[in-house]
Amino acid sequence: MTNRADIIVLGLGTCGEDAALRLLDQGLSVIGIEERLVGGECPYYACLPTKSLVRSANLVAEARRADGLVGSVTVDPDWSLVAGRLRDEITGDWDDTGAVTRFEQRGGHFVRGRGTFAGPRSVTVGDDTYEAIRGIIIATGSTPLVPQIAGLDAVDFWTTRDALVAEELPASLVILGGGPVGCELAQVFTRFGVAVTIVERADQLLPGIEPEGAAVVTAALMAEGVTVVTGSGARQVTSSPGGAIVGLDDGRAVGAERLLVALGRTVDTSDLGLSEAHVRADGGFVRVDGRLRATNGIWAIGDVTGKGLLTQVALYQSSIAVGDILGSDPMPADYSNMPRAVFTDPEVGVAGMTEAEARSAGIDAEVVTKAMGATFRGWLHRTGNDGMVKLVASKSEDRLVGGTVVGPHASDVAGFIGLAIREHVPLEHLVDSIYVFPSFYGAVGEAIGAYGRGLGTALDPDNPPLFTD
Ligand SMILES: Cc1cc2nc3c(=O)[nH]c(=O)nc-3n(C[C@H](O)[C@H](O)[C@H](O)COP(=O)(O)OP(=O)(O)OC[C@H]3O[C@@H](n4cnc5c(N)ncnc54)[C@H](O)[C@@H]3O)c2cc1C
Repeated sequence: MTNRADIIVLGLGTCGEDAALRLLDQGLSVIGIEERLVGGECPYYACLPTKSLVRSANLVAEARRADGLVGSVTVDPDWSLVAGRLRDEITGDWDDTGAVTRFEQRGGHFVRGRGTFAGPRSVTVGDDTYEAIRGIIIATGSTPLVPQIAGLDAVDFWTTRDALVAEELPASLVILGGGPVGCELAQVFTRFGVAVTIVERADQLLPGIEPEGAAVVTAALMAEGVTVVTGSGARQVTSSPGGAIVGLDDGRAVGAERLLVALGRTVDTSDLGLSEAHVRADGGFVRVDGRLRATNGIWAIGDVTGKGLLTQVALYQSSIAVGDILGSDPMPADYSNMPRAVFTDPEVGVAGMTEAEARSAGIDAEVVTKAMGATFRGWLHRTGNDGMVKLVASKSEDRLVGGTVVGPHASDVAGFIGLAIREHVPLEHLVDSIYVFPSFYGAVGEAIGAYGRGLGTALDPDNPPLFTD
């Protein structure tokens, strides 16, 4: 097989695989280089496994919520069923044979190994060199961040990858990091009987999320028995006969049988040989323009660009880069709406800016907040309806610039808000629209006065709709 192709894709992870398959479908020849699993983090160690755990844990919670509303239900959670589904159905036992076969059957040349640039159009893997005729896509992703914490290297801790392959659960767990992944896993494990403590150095869980939204999630976690420490980070870690003890900045200590480090992701491109290809990186992230070009004939997509570090962003970038390679003159990347979610229960859906971000960007922000239980669908839902809608509008531009939803199906509602932001939908059009009644996305309409004033305020007379005066 020849070592030359139109395009080399370095890293066949979540978006590299997508780009490679799209290019093959358009008749280009592609060499795909992957050192670990074709498909990358999302299907094996990230989105899909965590969301399968969330689904299982939510079933446990929903069953328990039946009490008092429909009758009594007893649920006896069994982790072996959950771990078995994750292994056999979701990740295929962390085996990418099917993905490799799919790539090769579409005509791709697959190379297993770690690639590094040898020049602007060439990549080496071991002793072999591969040449690109039209260009190279860098899609090398990110890895779990394990910061320097005194004593950590002497402790047998989990990263999120380890947590997702666990066939057995510890009796207790300290999670370092109260971001989306830390909060999601805290809730999953506590619902399967683990005594969980979360440690977050920022003043709130879910830093970067509207404080009102983070407060709802924090209250929900604490109500389920999670111990939440905020405003103090891990200063040192020591092993103990029973597991690990974490000394905190404020002098306190928390301990557990197992320690999970969920402090985010890091991108290390220092050994990719980027300088051989005249590609520039800042703090590890490859610098790209709106069409994901890193330099002439080299594109970078996904986590390695540092934009969002989310699958939806990685796949969005993939389609733009592929369009650019194929000469279809795609629209440059627009991250202004950035819909994203935290899959806790209640779920958090976010699009665009928070109120604080809007104000610090100089936007004349107007804000409306409505409790989810004061919307029609939320009120009907009753148990499990904790949450709120918070919308941020620019008065002078008469449009939404941000929105946060906490409650059932909030991730879907964020998609609706995100589209309104991106398309600059005037507020009066959002008010003067037909919403499915009753619906969770309709909560957005209710917050701004759709469904009619009488109905919209009937459930929440103290919180009248804004934006319509
Ligand atoms: C626990 C967790 C949960 C998450 N949940 C969500 C979620 O619910 N929704 C969401 O949108 N995002 C989620 N994410 C983020 C999402 O997984 C990533 O943003 C996405 O997978 C990034 O895709 P990528 O293609 O950039 O990188 P990756 O999928 O990491 O792929 C990069 C690939 O490149 C390979 N590689 C690296 N260097 C080389 C080299 N030199 N040579 C050859 N191969 C190389 C790697 O082996 C890897 O397979 C989650 C992340 C984590 C950690």
